Amino acid sequence: MTSDLKSSSTTRDLVILGSGCSGLTAAIYAGRSNLNPLVLEGHEPGGQLSITTLVENFPGWPEGIQGPELIENMKKQAQRFGTELRMAHLTAADLSAHPIRLTIGAEVVHTRTLIIASGASARWLNLPSEQALIGHGVSSCATCDGFFASGKPIAVIGGGDSAMEEALFLTRFASKVTLINRTGKFRASPIMLERAQAHEKIEFLANTIVEEVLGVEEKDVKGLRIKNTVSGVESILPVSFMFLGIGHIPNAQAFRGMMDLDEDGYILTKNDVYCTLNGEVLPGVYACGDIQDRRYRQAITAAGSGCMAALEVEKYLEEHGR
Ligand code: NAP
Repeated sequence: MTSDLKSSSTTRDLVILGSGCSGLTAAIYAGRSNLNPLVLEGHEPGGQLSITTLVENFPGWPEGIQGPELIENMKKQAQRFGTELRMAHLTAADLSAHPIRLTIGAEVVHTRTLIIASGASARWLNLPSEQALIGHGVSSCATCDGFFASGKPIAVIGGGDSAMEEALFLTRFASKVTLINRTGKFRASPIMLERAQAHEKIEFLANTIVEEVLGVEEKDVKGLRIKNTVSGVESILPVSFMFLGIGHIPNAQAFRGMMDLDEDGYILTKNDVYCTLNGEVLPGVYACGDIQDRRYRQAITAAGSGCMAALEVEKYLEEHGR
């Protein structure tokens, strides 16, 4: 393996998939070790922080910092240490080859190590009417589309921190926010839940599911057909927008069959960041951030695991040669 690793002078030391908090932290650390990482920005450049608003729990920002600004700072910091950022995404990979072979559009890139930090994407209800109205009053990004809901009654779906955060943010624009949760139990942290419950513009509908988004013919959301799961009673909620805040799906589909994933498609890592196949470590392949973390999923934990992945890359290259 060592001779293979030395065979190509054009082989990169490190490619990082994903430009969110974990990928960029990995790039900062790897850059400072002179590894000149290539970061592929992927489908959602900047990851989830780039579509969030105020981040109040990232240490070092006593007044909080806007998510996009935090990501922009991380990009600049990574570039300062020799990171190359490219707007592209992976189309195929051969992780058993050494060096690893990545197809990026028409180009093939060889790399000694790979960090997968592609994060997770918004989950949808997957109702045909919802899918038909995405971009016409159905959105998974309050930050992007909140302004368009100015002065209108809207609904937010979900009972976790994302839903609370979205609902609170959207009170700036909407005339009224109805928060719909499918059960009577809320996953949100107490502080977020209490803030949302205390807000005069937010009304809670628990034990309620959305059966149909109305307005497909008009190409504009006219309301929601909802059902109380306890009483079975159906009703129409007149809203002009529906925002989803029901969690995320890990962006690991491209690696199915190449490495161990859990039942929901998250990458199963060993010792935090090592990717495995049938329980055996895949040499030189690491995963960090939300693509392998279904428990903590915080910006700071994503950054922490990005740092760990980069340190493992350094150790691997020390042992196997550059
Ligand atoms: P989450 O905690 O997994 O909550 C997802 C919510 O969506 C749950 O209420 C879930 O209901 C509901 N849900 C899932 N699928 C659904 C479906 N098909 N139909 C209707 N409802 C559905 O996800 P999250 O809120 O995105 O949070 C993820 C992590 O990020 C958490 O650790 C959270 O603390 C963190 N986070 C933190 C902040 C912050 O601190 N500012 C902001 C956002 C997120 P069930 O409970 O019934 O499954």
